[in-house]
Amino acid sequence: MAGKDVATMKISPKVWKNGQIIDWDDARIHVMSHVVNYGSSVFEGIRCYNTVDGPAVFRLTEHIQRLLNSAKIYRMDSGFTRPDIIDGTLELLRQSNLDECYIRPLILRGLDENKPAFGVNPFGIPIDTYVATWQWGKYLGEEALETGIDVCVSSWTRITSNSMPAMAKAGANYMNSQLIKMEAILGGFSEGIALDDRGYVSEGSGENIFLVNNGKLITPPLGASILPGITRDSVIQIAKELGIEVLETTIQRSALYLADELFFTGTAAEITPIRAVDHITVGAGKRGPITEKLQEEFFKVIRGERPAPAGANWLTYVKDTGEKKTAVA
Ligand code: PMP
Repeated sequence: MAGKDVATMKISPKVWKNGQIIDWDDARIHVMSHVVNYGSSVFEGIRCYNTVDGPAVFRLTEHIQRLLNSAKIYRMDSGFTRPDIIDGTLELLRQSNLDECYIRPLILRGLDENKPAFGVNPFGIPIDTYVATWQWGKYLGEEALETGIDVCVSSWTRITSNSMPAMAKAGANYMNSQLIKMEAILGGFSEGIALDDRGYVSEGSGENIFLVNNGKLITPPLGASILPGITRDSVIQIAKELGIEVLETTIQRSALYLADELFFTGTAAEITPIRAVDHITVGAGKRGPITEKLQEEFFKVIRGERPAPAGANWLTYVKDTGEKKTAVA
């Protein structure tokens, strides 16, 4: 079944909800749901790639663990374990037939229509868990991976860990991301880089950032109000395997301008070079050699053409495992 085709985007006709596969059109919530009014959701963004051995999800276990970590911070107990959500995701993918796709697990506070509650207090509000999937091309554009993008430093400060913990991937964090992204787009840039509340480099609206200086990789530490990116971790591990030194340390805004190379990492953005910041050309103004090497190795890993560093298992194959735990509604 092909699913909905919005322009060139194919969307799965099915959604996993609380342990069951339901139709896309039935995956709806009430406008007075807690999440709509108070932003109470946590979510993930995951990619499934066509590998030499068929479709496989990249670092599925780590993504679902981060989802559960985000939910834990916000005291949201979905009632589903990591294996439950992993199995549900794989079952959804088998029923979706999309090959390469983006996967969006989501845990949210809904509405008990028999016992509605409209206040901020989240206790007692029902929690629903969903997984949706669709085909999504290159987030920052196909040619961006080669030519690089133009970005700006945002006038907006990244959320701070004692107000909105960046460590949790919460829907509400993306109000801050939207301010950063809108300002960038209106200024003619593809993306914005936020500084943290101390003025150090934090991250993009939906990406982590890396500098290359004298052959070394430098990236902000988790303390700079960043999401602990799974692509960030993958790049760090690949770099170390290649013998490239990696420093996680505070970075001043002006160091962005003086870097030899600069790139974003993220599930959607993958490894996207940055060619200019605030109209100041970075390095040679195009993808640098270390960025290119890291991209090359990363793309080999995600396509199953070479093993992950240190023999880790980063690919979960979608092919039928026989047993199906998820009921079809
Ligand atoms: N930071 C933010 C704010 C993000 O939204 C994302 C995308 N999930 C990232 C960093 C990169 O994380 P990952 O590599 O796990 O996708």
